[in-house]
Amino acid sequence: MVIEQVRYVCEFCKKAFTTREEAEDCESRCQRLAEFPRLEELNFSNRTFNLLYWSEVYTLRDLSDLSEQELLKIVTTQALTFQKKPGHLHQHLL
Ligand SMILES: [Zn+2]
Repeated sequence: MVIEQVRYVCEFCKKAFTTREEAEDCESRCQRLAEFPRLEELNFSNRTFNLLYWSEVYTLRDLSDLSEQELLKIVTTQALTFQKKPGHLHQHLL
């Protein structure tokens, strides 16, 4: 039996995988992040950034996938959360 030495490498993050499928999987994730700026780069206020981040919105793409209703829900739900535990969160909102 010949041991397969070929490594499949993600073009974007250069991570090596043992199967082509895994590498392609990684590439599609990396490409998505490369094409769509992360929230960090969009100059949102800390408050807005935290609201989105906690709702698992990490990229501009994720954000554009949201409907206005979903966005409104995030903002209102998270606003309630802030009111319930203002302590250590307070510093992030200033
Ligand atoms: Zn990758």
